[in-house]
Amino acid sequence: MLSYQHAYHAGNFADVHKHLVLYAVVDHLLRKASPITFLDTHAGRGVYPLDAPETQRLGEYRHGVLPLWQERGRLADEPLLASWLEAIARVQPDSSRLERYPGSPWWLGQRLRKDDRLQLFELHPGEHEHLTLQRLPVNVRRSHADGLTGLLAGLPAATPRLCVLIDPSYERKAEYGEVAETLLAAMRKVRHAVVLVWYPLLPAARHRELLEHLRDGGLRKIWRSELTLHEPGEERGMYGSGMLVVNPPWGVDERLAAAMARVVPLLGATSRYTADWWVEE
Ligand code: SAM
Repeated sequence: MLSYQHAYHAGNFADVHKHLVLYAVVDHLLRKASPITFLDTHAGRGVYPLDAPETQRLGEYRHGVLPLWQERGRLADEPLLASWLEAIARVQPDSSRLERYPGSPWWLGQRLRKDDRLQLFELHPGEHEHLTLQRLPVNVRRSHADGLTGLLAGLPAATPRLCVLIDPSYERKAEYGEVAETLLAAMRKVRHAVVLVWYPLLPAARHRELLEHLRDGGLRKIWRSELTLHEPGEERGMYGSGMLVVNPPWGVDERLAAAMARVVPLLGATSRYTADWWVEE
C-alpha cells in the first residue's frame, strides 16, 4: 500500500519541526572536515511547489512554514531560525516570496561538499518520478527502492561518517516495528552513525512501540524532541511531531530549544515543545 503523498502536507508544522532538527544536525556535522554519507530512506519529491493542487487542497503550510516566513524579519535575531529561513529563501525563484518548500533530500544535500555523498530512496513510482533537487552536485544517487532494505545493504558506508534520516509515512502499523528493527541492525553495523527518525504523535500512540523497541533493544544515546499542537484526544488526527536523534551532535539540543521557543508561539496558543533523553549514554 503506497497511497501517501507528501505534497498534501508539505511545509506543515511537522515538516518545520523535522527539517529544523535535520538542519541543525547537518550544520553541526559539517563543522568537521571528514566526509559524510547522507542517506534518506524515504525521500519524497525533494522540492514542493506550494501552488500545486495537492498542497493547496489542505494548505497545511499556512499553519507551518508560512507564519515563520512572514515573521522572518522579527526572527532574524535567532541564529538557527534565521539561517534556516535564509536557506528556504534560496529555493525560491524570487527570494521575497514563498513559492516552494524544500523536502528532506534538499535539506540533506544543500551543503554537500565534494567528498560527501547523498543516497536517496523512494519506493512510490510517481513520487520517485517527481524527485527533483535543483542545483545539487553530482555526488547524489537516487534509487527507486525500499529505503530500509537499502540502508542495511549500503552499510558500512564508504565515508568515515554517516547521517541517516528515516521518515516513513507509517501507513502500515507494522512500520513502527520495522523501523526499530532496521535501526537496531544498522547501529550494530555502524555504531557511530547519526540517525534521525521521525514519528507522528497520534491518539493511538503507536510511536510508543517504536520508542520501547529501541530502548529494549539496548540502543543508547537516543535524544527525543517533540512538538505538539494540542493535547492528545482533543481532535482526531496528528496532534504532534516527534524526532529521535541517535548519537546527536553536542549542542544541537540547546540550539533547537532556543529556536523552538520562537516557533511555538507562531503555531498557536496550545503548542508545546519538549526535548529530553529517551535513553542516555
Ligand atoms: N522525507 C520527506 C521529507 O521530509 O521531505 C517526506 C517523506 S514522506 C513522509 C514518506 C515517503 O516515503 C513517501 O514519499 C512514500 O512514497 C515513501 N515510501 C513509502 N514506503 C517506502 C519504502 N518502503 N521505501 C522508500 N520510500 C517509501
